Amino acid sequence: MTDSMLDRLIPLTTPGIAALRPYTPGKPIEELERELGISDSIKLASNENPLGPSDKVSAAVAAAIPDLSRYPDGGGFRLREAIAGLHGVSPEQVTLGNGSNDVLDLVARVFLQPGTESLFSEHAFAVYPISSQAAGATLRVVPAKDYGHDLDAMASQVNDRTRVVWIANPNNPTGTWLTGRELRRFVEQLPSRVICVIDEAYFDYVDEADYPDTSTWLGQFPNLIVTRTFSKAYGLAALRVGYGLSHPDLADLLNRVRQPFNVNSLAQVAATAALSDHVHLAAAISVNREGMEQLVAGVRELGLGYIPSVGNFLTIDLGRDAAAVDQALLREGVITRQVANYGLPNHLRVSVGLAHENDRFLTALQKVLT
Ligand SMILES: *Cc1c(COP(=O)(O)O)cnc(C)c1O
Repeated sequence: MTDSMLDRLIPLTTPGIAALRPYTPGKPIEELERELGISDSIKLASNENPLGPSDKVSAAVAAAIPDLSRYPDGGGFRLREAIAGLHGVSPEQVTLGNGSNDVLDLVARVFLQPGTESLFSEHAFAVYPISSQAAGATLRVVPAKDYGHDLDAMASQVNDRTRVVWIANPNNPTGTWLTGRELRRFVEQLPSRVICVIDEAYFDYVDEADYPDTSTWLGQFPNLIVTRTFSKAYGLAALRVGYGLSHPDLADLLNRVRQPFNVNSLAQVAATAALSDHVHLAAAISVNREGMEQLVAGVRELGLGYIPSVGNFLTIDLGRDAAAVDQALLREGVITRQVANYGLPNHLRVSVGLAHENDRFLTALQKVLT
């Protein structure tokens, strides 16, 4: 499309679209290898599970292939039952999404429009501004405190136009987290007409005593939506499946705008199978814990700073512009993630991989920094 065509189309779009830039995903391995003519690169750029999916998932997906000519169950009956069982809620409280990003987008589409405000922190997950802006809402971005959420400052920015507040706990790309006490105090003082999204994409990795499972708060806060995903600890990023937990009436509204078949049938059987494999989940958590220790130790040895993280990634302070380092790492066959678009131009985010991958990253980092 030529610029002049774009110029003519922009005035026809929803307010906010003109200023949007597409989400930049991590570079696929195949693309990098083609560009560099190499074959053994590693991708530590998208916080994916280095163990891959559970064998139970592979079997369930294979068994579902003969039914690919059928539409999926639009209501996601079995998966919603399984999720409801996991959280001790009713299936009416579960909204399935094509990834949890889809659920986040449903929230924006239902509650945001021009004239309303969407509130989140500096360094917040990119989908919050994208979905909010696409809905035409005004973005209210609150400066971070020690790279994390400044909840008091966020509370002070709530006004009559505020419709949705977004909080990732832990946050991506910083790995920072909020205790149950501080988060609960924030939710308690939030007016009940403001929807509070708590994004728990990295929930399973967190091993801190006062880290909250906010799905247990749903009974007290009808304005709360807790989102979870199968993309990280469950290792199903490619299949795109996540969910929201909320009051049934809130779920009812989200379901009104949800695409009828937004979660495909392979994703549904895979997610259901993944929930049943506690051994694989435990292995993913344990590999992550060990890998995080390895990365932190290695980064310290290199004399670099980092943001302490409870997720499956570490955001490293290079003390200099990260773009050149990222490019140099790519030439070593190591894909990491620049986070300049999150307001962190001197940081690089690396996902926790298998021991040999972490080792390869640290060796490459040392090489490109010297
Ligand atoms: C990875 C991630 C998600 C998950 O997105 P999916 O659409 O479920 O793959 C959600 N929120 C945050 C903060 C994330 O980092």
